[in-house]
Amino acid sequence: MALSGVEIFKHLPKTNCKKCGFPTCLAFAMKLAAKQASLDSCPDASEEAKSFLGAASEPPVRAITIGAGAGAVKVGEETVLFRHEKKFVNPCGMALQVMDTDSDADIDAKASAVATSEIDRVGQRLRIELVSVKDASGDPARFAAAVKRVTEKAPDAGLILDTRNTAAVEAALAHLAGKKPLIYGATADNADAMVGIAKAAGASLGVIADGLDALTALTEKITAGGFKDLVLDPGARKAKDMVEQYTMIRRSATKKSFKPLGFPVISFAVNADPYMEQALASIGIAKYASIIVLSDIAKWKSLALIALRQNIYTDPQVPMQVKQDLYKVGDVKAESPLMITTNFSLTYFIVLGEVENSKVPSWLAVMDVEGLSVLTAWAAGKFTAAKIAQFITESGIDQSVSHKELIIPGYVAILSGALEEKLPGWKITVGPREANALPAFLKNKAAAA
Ligand code: SF4
Repeated sequence: MALSGVEIFKHLPKTNCKKCGFPTCLAFAMKLAAKQASLDSCPDASEEAKSFLGAASEPPVRAITIGAGAGAVKVGEETVLFRHEKKFVNPCGMALQVMDTDSDADIDAKASAVATSEIDRVGQRLRIELVSVKDASGDPARFAAAVKRVTEKAPDAGLILDTRNTAAVEAALAHLAGKKPLIYGATADNADAMVGIAKAAGASLGVIADGLDALTALTEKITAGGFKDLVLDPGARKAKDMVEQYTMIRRSATKKSFKPLGFPVISFAVNADPYMEQALASIGIAKYASIIVLSDIAKWKSLALIALRQNIYTDPQVPMQVKQDLYKVGDVKAESPLMITTNFSLTYFIVLGEVENSKVPSWLAVMDVEGLSVLTAWAAGKFTAAKIAQFITESGIDQSVSHKELIIPGYVAILSGALEEKLPGWKITVGPREANALPAFLKNKAAAA
């Protein structure tokens, strides 16, 4: 059972020294009970307290790291059932499945696709992080050769060794010194041997069972022996089963502190129908899977999944925003056009992309409205004529720009008259409502100049 804040408080030093960042030991204890702080933040906690409170301060879903070095992927460590309660912590890893029966050229192509999958979206570098090599041949030597090929083409990708054959795992591990793969995995039949191999390799271990009761029995058996770096597969392959089983696992871990299910979940979205695969992957991302295995990462699929994942794993309490500043887009001159927008990251990066597309060097004044989009900021009274005028006046824009024409977003055309009153001598031009109309707008403007 989870400990209450008061129970935790009894084991803290009670000096209210504030080194943990909280004003009192009791406030810190309450945060620990809510799984919103780590006992590590109290440098004066006794060994007895650490041992006693260790379980209480651990996240209900254990953190698992697959891989090592710059490409390591950390999953799990989740503390809540619903994103709005706090936030989801570690974005699920996405894996491309490679068969060891694939041709060398196909293995190389798939591994290279993972290695080059990184994209930039709203200022974040995002990628497909994992390759799952499936033992379809039943031949340990062939499995190991496929794993070796993948590591050569995608050295930064985390690896999932998808085989129940201990000989195949051992053969593959010979090529993976220090790489800490996920071995997938352990069943009721091979668990003892797989745990021994995973322990020796510093690897994590997928636990495979048919349904939650069998899964619980197996994780209880494995953790009783002291090994805890586990990832769960309850066997769901259909949408309904995924939603049910993954939700029960997360609910058991976060609401009931049920340790046997307090581990990340691996979800196999692989499906012969590419649209169904996309749907299953989306369900996994939205409903608590920490690793999603895909048969294909064509851009039309992977970009949508990456964007969905990014949105779900964004902290809902912290608006994504960029710094208020006057940004140069392209090789700007003093006479280049000047536009204004708000500092919501998505707004900024969409506008930036379209201005870049226009090939018309431009100044982009980005105003701090606490990370809101243009219309929301206007409705909230943060992007008004008076505040824009104050920003333009105090920003020092006149040091960089030789003209006095400000292009405002079409959605706030209503501000143009008031802005001209607040900014004497300035011409206010209403730009397009949608950013995708900016290239034509800027090109026409440049042609008319
Ligand atoms: S650092 Fe430890 S002793 Fe100090 S206030 Fe926080 S919980 Fe109390």
